[in-house]
Amino acid sequence: MANITFIGLGNMGGPMAANLIAAGHNVTVFDLFPDAVAQLVKLGAETADTVNACVGDAECVISMLPAGKHVEGLYTGEQGLLHSLKPGTLVIDSSTIDKATVLKVAAALAEKSIRFIDAPVSGGVGGAQAGTLSFMVGGEKADFDAAQPILENMGKNIFHAGEHGAGQVAKVCNNMLLAILMSGTSEALQLGMDNGLDPKVLSEIMLKSSGRNWTLELYNPVPDVLENVPSSNGYKGGFMTDLMAKDLGLAMDTAVQTQSATPMGTLARSLYALHAAKGNGGKDFSSIIEMFQKEEK
Ligand code: NAD
Repeated sequence: MANITFIGLGNMGGPMAANLIAAGHNVTVFDLFPDAVAQLVKLGAETADTVNACVGDAECVISMLPAGKHVEGLYTGEQGLLHSLKPGTLVIDSSTIDKATVLKVAAALAEKSIRFIDAPVSGGVGGAQAGTLSFMVGGEKADFDAAQPILENMGKNIFHAGEHGAGQVAKVCNNMLLAILMSGTSEALQLGMDNGLDPKVLSEIMLKSSGRNWTLELYNPVPDVLENVPSSNGYKGGFMTDLMAKDLGLAMDTAVQTQSATPMGTLARSLYALHAAKGNGGKDFSSIIEMFQKEEK
């Protein structure tokens, strides 16, 4: 069993760290929110006052933070972990961030002989809780092989996408498609409801027809069609609109660099940016269906 430090215990990181504890690893945790730390300590994790003190014995450090600036600050900032990690430590960053930050952080850590892989995930909070996430890994094959037994405690499908940054490219392609599917599913369900259809019945029909997709089947945006999804819980928890808007921005940056045409992704980015601008950034991304609902006159 390994000494693992887990940093970033939010909607995703909390349950991922819990699965590492359940698998028998010695897990030390850190987050800026004391409540998030306390939840994991209850499950058997250790902690310390500062993030640097949390990595003292770490053979492996895993981070699950909101965006690239947080990851860059954590590892290469003035007080960054770069200065406290032992050579040979394996760093796994599972946050969804831009490829440029991955390359910058990987190069800075490599100078101190610290190993790094980008390993963003798919599967949502449900997948994090169930330990069934998909990991898309970028980095050296030897580091991927070393990380695999640890990742298997948190996920079911572990892919080596290529060199540093390849995991992030795979992730933004996936999330761009997810945003397009969620917008399209919302639009179709709302059209049906506007024409008097019961969203449960319409969902059942489309699930047995060619409109079937992951958002319709497992993450339906209409409240009370499915249990245990954010739409049935006031769009709380899950995957925030702000984070989806961030991922779509990353997809657009990636597309610009290769001059790739992404008309549907571009539209989805605008929809999510507008939804966030109207004060919905903290709601789950399936709340995009509210964009299609008619307001009472
Ligand atoms: P979240 O906002 O719930 O959690 C982020 C956590 O990081 C918070 O608890 C915050 O306090 C902590 N944090 C921020 N800066 C920190 C720092 N410097 N040191 C320590 N802790 C710090 O976000 P989340 O939903 O868990 O998402 C995390 C990442 O995973 C994001 O990059 C997101 O895009 C990605 N992701 C999320 C989902 C999902 O369904 N929520 C799915 C796949 C990928």
